[in-house]
Amino acid sequence: MNEKTILILGGGVGGLVAGNELRRLLPREHHIIVVEKNAQHAFAPSFLWLMTGDRKPERITRPVRELVRSGVEIVHAEARAIDVAKQQVETGARSLNYDYLIIALGTELAPEWIPGLTGAAHTFYTFEGAMKLHQALEAFTGGMIALAVCAMPYKCPGAPHEGAMLIADCFRKRGLREKVDIQMFTPEPQPMPVAGPVLGDMIKQMLQSKGISFHASHKLSAVNPQTRELTFEGKSPVKYDLLVAIPPHRAPSLVREAGLANEAGWVPVDRASLATKHENVYAIGDITAISIPGRWKPDVPMMLPKAGVFAHNHAEVVAHRIAAKINGRTPKEAFCGDGYCMLEAGEELAGFAYGNFFAEPSPQITLHKIGKTWHVGKVLFEKWWLAPFGLRRELLRLALRWGAKAKGIPVTV
Ligand SMILES: Cc1cc2nc3c(=O)[nH]c(=O)nc-3n(C[C@H](O)[C@H](O)[C@H](O)COP(=O)(O)OP(=O)(O)OC[C@H]3O[C@@H](n4cnc5c(N)ncnc54)[C@H](O)[C@@H]3O)c2cc1C
Repeated sequence: MNEKTILILGGGVGGLVAGNELRRLLPREHHIIVVEKNAQHAFAPSFLWLMTGDRKPERITRPVRELVRSGVEIVHAEARAIDVAKQQVETGARSLNYDYLIIALGTELAPEWIPGLTGAAHTFYTFEGAMKLHQALEAFTGGMIALAVCAMPYKCPGAPHEGAMLIADCFRKRGLREKVDIQMFTPEPQPMPVAGPVLGDMIKQMLQSKGISFHASHKLSAVNPQTRELTFEGKSPVKYDLLVAIPPHRAPSLVREAGLANEAGWVPVDRASLATKHENVYAIGDITAISIPGRWKPDVPMMLPKAGVFAHNHAEVVAHRIAAKINGRTPKEAFCGDGYCMLEAGEELAGFAYGNFFAEPSPQITLHKIGKTWHVGKVLFEKWWLAPFGLRRELLRLALRWGAKAKGIPVTV
């Protein structure tokens, strides 16, 4: 057999799943290489529990090498340039040639896009940020906490709302809830606009029941750290005591430099196959631009949200398609737009949103009543994701599959 090299850029959610699935599907003569700049992997959904103090840093991180099957090569280096014509990637360590390329580089945060934001705001969108925010919340004894979503798109549309509810829960536990005013600001017209008005109203009610004010259509334009004041486009300024921000997101610049990105910097792909316009080059997860039915505002088309569940599903589809091609079969697997999200609400309770994002005329998403089950599901998923390959991981996978089947949810793990 003609040996092939599959090169995966980024060893986060999508890159790890793609590498492991390809190793499972392909004979050993084919090379699977993951280029990842960080030696440690941190599980992003648990940043919220790091912020609340429910997780220690070491419980939500693992060496990347422990999370891949044997036979997946990890190159710990920064990918610097992609040359699609030469089928070559320049990294900080060496040049790598490929037969198939999977781009799974995720997003970067760009707080500098909002004047005054850098240094003024905390964030739970990074590992270090969540640890620092935990300390700031511990030291906070009263006043106004502003939680600002700065720009669209951002990853995990549920996370800012979860963050607000978990912050409220921290102060409830400390008996300080009455002294802390929590206000959420977002440029979106409602919570999770992609999921439609009914679900948006349900999330608004969840926030209200926790005493959190929700301010839609508030686009942050500047922060004054001296006066602790937020400026919004076309709205009155707002004073805060502690600022928590979801900074603007951007795609890593090397995809733009390689001519793979659209004007906004994201990589457009065929929504079913995740193929880019270049032969044997795929992009998966947060770095992609996938338009979906429906409109965010009358003039703005909706995009598939950036979420780990999609990165995971994309990775499986692409791994199967590449393996089929190498094995001389016609690839059949397609991404169908299904997704789900467990929405932490505090007090060890969570809601569960599930649906199809390709449904016409707009995504069909259902929010199940909050309960303990969904919280336990999220904890189990965390344990499964961070377990090294072996019996424990397999048992956790079976438990998750059994739980999902009992609830009638087609969860892939
Ligand atoms: C607080 C928080 C909560 C979340 N909760 C959920 C949730 O409950 N459910 C859900 O589905 N999603 C959730 N997400 C979103 C989820 O984490 C992301 O959507 C998911 O990680 C995207 O996977 P990805 O593979 O596209 O990118 P990532 O997982 O971000 O992986 C990208 C990888 O590429 C590496 N990289 C970047 N540039 C380079 C380079 N030049 N060279 C080498 N390596 C590079 C990065 O180090 C990283 O490891 C949450 C995110 C946050 C921040």
